[in-house]
Amino acid sequence: MNTQRADVLLCRPTMKAPSERITSKLWVGSLPIDDPVKTWGGYGSDLECDGCDGPRTPKEPEHEHQMQNGRVLRFHVACAGLWRVLKQALPDRKHAPPPSSSL
Ligand SMILES: [Zn+2]
Repeated sequence: MNTQRADVLLCRPTMKAPSERITSKLWVGSLPIDDPVKTWGGYGSDLECDGCDGPRTPKEPEHEHQMQNGRVLRFHVACAGLWRVLKQALPDRKHAPPPSSSL
């Protein structure tokens, strides 16, 4: 018997670095690449971080970002920073500006 395992759902229990997780989510579209319309901070509520999927404990500061469609993303402060940087670094899938090449 040859059982093939599909890795398409990214649900393997391997621990990935937060930056890898966030990059994957940006690529598959489960994290938006848009800028939030509103951002605020607070403390964790034991829910999962939208970036690294780890728990956000009440002792940990967090960032919340409200998107244009009303979705609220909740991140560890570090994951929020990664998300902001990584979504800028990815090729823009919606409105990619032409690469500006100088002379
Ligand atoms: Zn996180």
